[in-house]
Amino acid sequence: MPEPPNKGEKTFRGIPVSAGVCRGKIVLLSRARPSIAPRQLTDADLPEEINRLERALAQTRQQILEIQRKVVEAMGAQEGSIFDAHLLALEDRTLMDEVIRVIQEKRVNAEHAFHTIAERYAATLSAIEDDYLRERADDMRDVTGRVLNNLVGLEPEAELRYLKEPCIVISHDLTPSNTAQLDKRNVLGFATDVGSKTSHTAIMARSLRIPAVVGLKDASGQLATGQYALLDGHSSLLVVNPTDQTLFEYGQLMLKKATWRQRLQDILAEPAVTLDGHRTLLNANIEQAADAEQVKANGAEGVGLFRTEYLFLKRDHLPGEEQQYQAYHEAAAALNPLPVVIRTLDLGGDKFLAHMPMPVELNPFLGWRAIRISLQERDIFRAQLRAILRASAAGNVRVMYPMISGLDELKQANALLEEYKDELRKEKVPFDEKLQVGAMIETPSAAVVAESLAKRVNFFSIGTNDLIQYSLAVDRMNEKIAHLYEPTHPAIVRLIKTTVDAAHRQGIRVSVCGEMGGDPVLVPLLLGLGVDELSAAPSLVPPIKFLIRRLKLSEAHELAASALNCESAEVILASCQELARQIAPSLFESL
Ligand code: PEP
Ligand code: MG
Repeated sequence: MPEPPNKGEKTFRGIPVSAGVCRGKIVLLSRARPSIAPRQLTDADLPEEINRLERALAQTRQQILEIQRKVVEAMGAQEGSIFDAHLLALEDRTLMDEVIRVIQEKRVNAEHAFHTIAERYAATLSAIEDDYLRERADDMRDVTGRVLNNLVGLEPEAELRYLKEPCIVISHDLTPSNTAQLDKRNVLGFATDVGSKTSHTAIMARSLRIPAVVGLKDASGQLATGQYALLDGHSSLLVVNPTDQTLFEYGQLMLKKATWRQRLQDILAEPAVTLDGHRTLLNANIEQAADAEQVKANGAEGVGLFRTEYLFLKRDHLPGEEQQYQAYHEAAAALNPLPVVIRTLDLGGDKFLAHMPMPVELNPFLGWRAIRISLQERDIFRAQLRAILRASAAGNVRVMYPMISGLDELKQANALLEEYKDELRKEKVPFDEKLQVGAMIETPSAAVVAESLAKRVNFFSIGTNDLIQYSLAVDRMNEKIAHLYEPTHPAIVRLIKTTVDAAHRQGIRVSVCGEMGGDPVLVPLLLGLGVDELSAAPSLVPPIKFLIRRLKLSEAHELAASALNCESAEVILASCQELARQIAPSLFESL
């Protein structure tokens, strides 16, 4: 190995995709690309050229199936299903027929024809402003690269498979199939020039639990194999040639974090109970059945919000009743007897399906969204409610409607639910006859008529993300007006109080499942306002529990009472910060 140039410390900043810190020698993956230069063939060459292509496709299919098998074994079915998209791309007959046509008509070699056509497909997909389609473009490029390597007999992953010592892998890009080949024993972490937080490569890194940073721009061009580096997946930094001082500071930081993690670990199985004995339920928000493991690992007491959109977004077709049933059943069975609140589809706003035409609207967040879509697209709603009902036979499932803005919507949704229950009864399909139904309170109108809604459901869950955006008329996605997005605005505090009081008068419980419920600074205010349960990202559950166990409900009540009498969002926020920092200073030092 050539001696690397040993210059001073250099830091590269990227996008964090998988937490953790590691340090070690860099291995820079080369960007060996198979030649795709056109070669002119004769008519006599064409049959063999097409055979060569078919052989490479078959070989690629075998390789992907093998990778998929290993991934399923090592990480689970969910991660393995990432490669379904790769297999689909390989089986795309329109694409292959076009490649064969180009080979025949232009009399060119298979790698040139295949690359040209596949790249055109990928470029079209990646030009569309849609994360899902961009990922499909990445899948297409991953498969294309593999087919080309097989056509020319290149083995690009050799470097990855035969790493001799633990190292940090640096590359311009890592495809999901490259990532799947990483040998965890010898890969401390990885960093790439390109990539996004939601890419499959990022998802795989998180599943493998190895620190990873992407989007380092042109870092790989400035690094050499053998250099020593520190990779920080929390702060998304790659520090090359770190000085002794940097290494020392990181060592201290790591020690602090480890101690803090241990403190959280110690209370994992303990309840979220205040010092004066008030018990709160702490649940987790999930997006797919596979997250159920994280729910338990973080000591959550159930799922307060299963956002079902991901099931729809990750496919190129609508998931039917059966596919949804599998997912809901998996989560319910894995967590039984813990409750799993499944929210019906919340499409629209900022979530669209490439495969479902939706109208272009001037104000999508005020438009055809969530329950409004479900009530009009009956087939979609029916399939989802039937799947949820069926899954309720296997665990403690509850259903919840998003974006209810008034009583009529709730009544309609409930009537349809009853209709589908009747269907199942007639079909003798079991479901939980006592299935609890909840409404999300995320529009100001719902909060104002909460008492009417409360008479028709078993629980409320306040979606503060939307409640804030709709009440304050502040688009939650617009950075320019982000300063106006104030969770402690007096109007929000009062709407939460109105909702809680109405619910309690009707004898039902209230949860908060928006980001406010996962913010340690705001949790005492929510408890003081009477919120019974919280639901937050799994990783936020332990710190929230830590804080609640240091809080007195009486302090929370005082905080809420003063907030309800206060005219300023800023003052309310300052009081929240003061209380939280006073009761759990170590929590804030660790953040
Ligand atoms: C909310 O609005 O607070 C909520 C939990 O729903 P989402 O963030 O999915 O819109
Ligand atoms: Mg919402």
